[in-house]
Amino acid sequence: MKDRTLLMIPGPIEFEPDVLQALGAPTTSHVSPDFIDVFGQALERMRKVFQAPSGQPFVLSGSGTLAMDCAGANLIEPGDRALVLSTGVFGDRFEDLLGRYGAEVTVLRFPLGETVDFNQVKSELDRSSYKVVTATHVDTSTAVRVDPQQFGELGRQFGVLTILDGVCSVAGEKLHQEEWGIDVVLTASQKAIGVPPGLALLVVSKPAIEAWRERKAPARSYYADWEKWLPIMEAYEERRPSYFGTPAVNLICALNISLGQILDEGLDERISRHCQLGKASRAAFAALGLGTVPTAAEHSANTLSAPRYPDGVTGADLLPKIRAAGAILAGGLHPAIQSEYFRIGHMGATKAGDLLAAIGAVETGLKQSGYDFELGIGVGAAQRVIAAC
Ligand SMILES: *Cc1c(COP(=O)(O)O)cnc(C)c1O
Repeated sequence: MKDRTLLMIPGPIEFEPDVLQALGAPTTSHVSPDFIDVFGQALERMRKVFQAPSGQPFVLSGSGTLAMDCAGANLIEPGDRALVLSTGVFGDRFEDLLGRYGAEVTVLRFPLGETVDFNQVKSELDRSSYKVVTATHVDTSTAVRVDPQQFGELGRQFGVLTILDGVCSVAGEKLHQEEWGIDVVLTASQKAIGVPPGLALLVVSKPAIEAWRERKAPARSYYADWEKWLPIMEAYEERRPSYFGTPAVNLICALNISLGQILDEGLDERISRHCQLGKASRAAFAALGLGTVPTAAEHSANTLSAPRYPDGVTGADLLPKIRAAGAILAGGLHPAIQSEYFRIGHMGATKAGDLLAAIGAVETGLKQSGYDFELGIGVGAAQRVIAAC
């Protein structure tokens, strides 16, 4: 029997069959004309999905953390000042990361479950000058969303380079990289982009490329250096063979298919599908009487939810029961509240039916854990949101 347990963690997720098929296809040479064309097309499609018509896309083999590292390695030189806006674990990660490249880092850490307060950011930028500011579009440890438009506009206003960690948001949350003036948007294949783990993806603005060109010394990472990869990305787009490090041929074929599906669905349609799933999920947990980590719906992510366990129920008890009932969900990640909440990813290929099945599994698990509620009340609430769309 096929294992049909739904994978609904915040990445990796369920993938479309055509995407998975590309991974199993015979591997071709990374300089064969067919593959060059596929890679070139994938780069062109990345510009469309990130909405950055004059941005420079990069595709490297690695996870989202490599994409973060790549931005830091290329844009930071020792002594550069960086401002990190943190709404969770992934925001905090930039502090350590940028520090490794010699940045003097200031962190504005927002209260758990709250989003970035841009008045506070503006005061800090008024008070002090920075080369780089980072934000996390959706921090996957808290399900808190940050407004990338205000982020980009503030960066532009103060002449600071903006780096947006879009690992849990790109292709699932609204993003107009170029119009909003965001210099680097980075993501990883296994989240809302809809491809198994293994690719680090970035789109870099012209001003950020210029800032990188003005470095005094080469980037301190050999593998992540744009000096190495920029000519390769340009060559693939111009449909010429080139080589620095072997690209992940099958993953890039899968990426091209997924990006094609995203554009076929339509970015607006796709974002509103994610918006509905987010709303439906929150409606279900509210009906079940569960709180959430984000303190308001307006800054709750579309791509995942972070409900709190009801009193008397633990993750160690509940999550295996939910899994046995048909859905694999994730535990908490934020160290301050790790044992108090769980996470459910609803991005990429997730359909309304998948979400309803997962909520059904949560209800089964909660009932078996002894939590008192009316069975079906969460599924019903989610269904009402979906039916109204
Ligand atoms: C998953 C995630 C990362 C890290 O990506 P990996 O692929 O696990 O290295 C970074 N930032 C955010 C917001 C994420 O969701």
